[in-house]
Amino acid sequence: MTGENLSTRDKKHLWHPLTQHKLGKPQLPIVKAKGTLLFDEEGKEYIDAIASWYTVMYGHANEQIVAAITKQMQTLDFVMFSGLTHEPAIELSEKLMEILPDNQAKIFFNDNGSTAVEAAIKMALQFFHNKGEKRDTLIAFEDGFHGDTFGAMSASGLSSYNGPFEDFLLNVERIPVPTDDNLSEVTDKLSQTLHKNKCAAFVFEPLVQGAAGMKFHSAKGLDTLIELCREHEVLCIADEIMTGFGKTGKNFASENIANAPDIICLSKALTAGMFPLSITSCSQEVYNGFLSDDVHKGFFHAHTFSAHPLGCAAALAGIKLLNSPQILERREAINLAHNQFLSQIKSHNKVKDVRVMGVILAIDLDIKTERYGNLRDELYNFFLERGVLLRPLGNTVYVLPPFVITKEELQKVYKAIIEALNTF
Ligand SMILES: *Cc1c(COP(=O)(O)O)cnc(C)c1O
Repeated sequence: MTGENLSTRDKKHLWHPLTQHKLGKPQLPIVKAKGTLLFDEEGKEYIDAIASWYTVMYGHANEQIVAAITKQMQTLDFVMFSGLTHEPAIELSEKLMEILPDNQAKIFFNDNGSTAVEAAIKMALQFFHNKGEKRDTLIAFEDGFHGDTFGAMSASGLSSYNGPFEDFLLNVERIPVPTDDNLSEVTDKLSQTLHKNKCAAFVFEPLVQGAAGMKFHSAKGLDTLIELCREHEVLCIADEIMTGFGKTGKNFASENIANAPDIICLSKALTAGMFPLSITSCSQEVYNGFLSDDVHKGFFHAHTFSAHPLGCAAALAGIKLLNSPQILERREAINLAHNQFLSQIKSHNKVKDVRVMGVILAIDLDIKTERYGNLRDELYNFFLERGVLLRPLGNTVYVLPPFVITKEELQKVYKAIIEALNTF
């Protein structure tokens, strides 16, 4: 058994996510990670240019975060969060309040991104139920992604994931994302939706749709849509699971819009990739909707690992780093380098579109690919062969590196992209 390599052993009992096991190459075993680098069994290095699904923003095995978790596990490993409380969760709620939009007042803990969205949707539905109002419809953007549990999946509009489940989803009305050209059209569509349906919540990824291919939309447009929802007392849920913690330039993408969301979902970089944890924050008004002498009007929703102290400790260490002078300097340097690279490649004949926001760089290639298909796999493998982990979303190649990536590492990533542009 131990004589066999990891790939062979992996095949015996493991079922990987987002994988058709009858097709494609075996999974790449990673035995070690440090900073920006991943190492395989043979010691080959790979730059983690997407920060392992935009989580490890301070680098793998970051010493400050490792130290914080180690200390926490020796003091208080875990207790349930119903009936009991603890300082890591309390301190994290205080620190989050310092950086979240001013209208946020309460923090509800969950254990991953999908469950943060699930809790947000249930909060919105119960908020109206508690008031004796029946509101049974959600509004969401086309091509949004909010997770893989049923509520979150209902809000998601990416059909490659939802196909088999479409008959079992919540009522959702979809609108296109607002651009500079289509705002009146989208506003009309939203207006009709609001009049036709009993809408409870508008769920959106603010400014950047991650899984859709790092697609950007207009902040001004989003603001207009939120304002319209407000007129109908529809709760606005910002899914900042991808955009949160400095990726768009600001700490949160919601800082770019004047109308702060009623509910915000955070995960991924929240714990710097070190621990699964998420939060659903909300305004005082939403919270007040659950206060009652009737016990059943409380929010009866829990996850065993809610507010896990190790996750809270990781999050606290991460927030300390987020706006430290060293990380701020890197955040700006990456943005500058991305913009220089954008100028360099924007007129390449294989580049259909290239865009930069904060530390996010996305390039739409002028080639035809399926979201999961041969050409996409070839691109993925092409980058791996060059020591760079990039995970193309259809024909979109995006770079969202850990803040700690060095100038040289970033140049190596760009070089691999230019080679791909000249090859495919
Ligand atoms: C990743 C992601 C989710 C789902 O989070 P999981 O932890 O994978 O369940 C939801 N929304 C957005 C915007 C995401 O990027």
